[in-house]
Amino acid sequence: MDETITLNSQGGLKVPDQVEIPFIMGDGVGPDIWRAAAPVMEAAVVKAYQGGRAIRWLELPAGEKAHEQTGEWLPQETLEELRRHHVGLKGPLATPVGGGIRSLNVAIRHQLDLYACIRPVKYIPGVPSPVREPEKVDMIVFRENTEDVYAGIEWAAGSPEAEALIGHLNAEYQTDIREGSALGIKPMSAFGSQRLIRRAVQWALDQGRSSVTLVHKGNIMKYTEGAFKDWGYELAAKEFGDRTIPESQVQGEPPAGRVVIKDRIADAMFQQVLLRPAEYSVLALPNLNGDYLSDALAAQVGGLGLAPGGNFGDETAVFEATHGTAPKYAGKDMINPGSLILSGAFMLDYLGWNQAADLIRVAVEKTIAAKKVTYDLARQMEGAEKVSCSGFGEELVKRM
Ligand code: NAP
Repeated sequence: MDETITLNSQGGLKVPDQVEIPFIMGDGVGPDIWRAAAPVMEAAVVKAYQGGRAIRWLELPAGEKAHEQTGEWLPQETLEELRRHHVGLKGPLATPVGGGIRSLNVAIRHQLDLYACIRPVKYIPGVPSPVREPEKVDMIVFRENTEDVYAGIEWAAGSPEAEALIGHLNAEYQTDIREGSALGIKPMSAFGSQRLIRRAVQWALDQGRSSVTLVHKGNIMKYTEGAFKDWGYELAAKEFGDRTIPESQVQGEPPAGRVVIKDRIADAMFQQVLLRPAEYSVLALPNLNGDYLSDALAAQVGGLGLAPGGNFGDETAVFEATHGTAPKYAGKDMINPGSLILSGAFMLDYLGWNQAADLIRVAVEKTIAAKKVTYDLARQMEGAEKVSCSGFGEELVKRM
């Protein structure tokens, strides 16, 4: 029986009941969180479908383990298998020092053209939070994943390339760049920005969300950040004109069934998500703004240990723990596996296996309400019982 996901003629997923899902275990705490998370996902599928559906895992080499075994950090076969299966799950990968690769995570996103990094950020009751009303946070961050600083080019201060470029710009374009400066270029295109924003608007429409906010720094960088905003409004008007409305045209309550398109300057947005989080729903951001804001939002609802995420292209999606390899906790069975577990639930939703996904999310809520948590949350919660990484997974399975 074929266990591989295929695409239908509209580009949607055709998921067999017995499905093979490739995974990258990851470096550092990767094996710890994988050992805790896999049984949780398996138990949820069994509980939801009573044997009618099942996942078979296929481990793919990447990172330190792959390098030891094959001499390669990211074997071509791994990318091909992810492409062939259309869906995958991954733990954190360490950035090789002196490996000639900027980051393996960025390489996977680039090579598979996973242009949208999507992170749902929602408060789970009982999680210690640094803010007073974390329950008002319920946002989905759409971060552009292939341009801006991810496609950034830099030249070191004093390098011949930087000096030559400074000379050229000052002479030809009347710029006034100080001699000896370092230079960086960040490309952003209408194509790259609009395919990300299209996805955010479509999500808002599909999920009945009230608004999409374009977050940019266009007051300073008008032709990159400012253009991101303009391209966003243009796309919404052209492709979703009858189902969206720009905030500037809203008087009182927005018309029913229309998603409001807003924009905010990035620095102001950091204030807004702290002071008026209930006014924001779906956010679309260029790469660097998205990087900062998604971690800041995760902190508002309890930190990276519980933040799920996925990287989406048109034909492939790779779900991942959003934290790094946390090397000091590697092999100690201590770290919070919640990020990978909730990314697994996000993946099950994407497969259309929503019942199993809901079982996981409810089990996480119940386990946190019972105050059985890993060290990171236990140290901030009164009366909590500290459990291990694998122990947290077992507590979830008990509560399904
Ligand atoms: P990190 O691995 O995310 O860890 C930084 C700190 O965050 C940890 O010491 C821990 O704080 C907390 N933390 C992270 N994951 C947690 C979890 N699951 N549960 C509870 N607390 C958690 O960041 P880093 O030390 O900057 O990066 C280490 C390596 O990971 C680098 O090689 C980096 O390139 C890589 N990285 C990979 C990814 C990815 O694969 N997507 C993402 C980011 C970084 P406490 O010490 O306070 O407990």
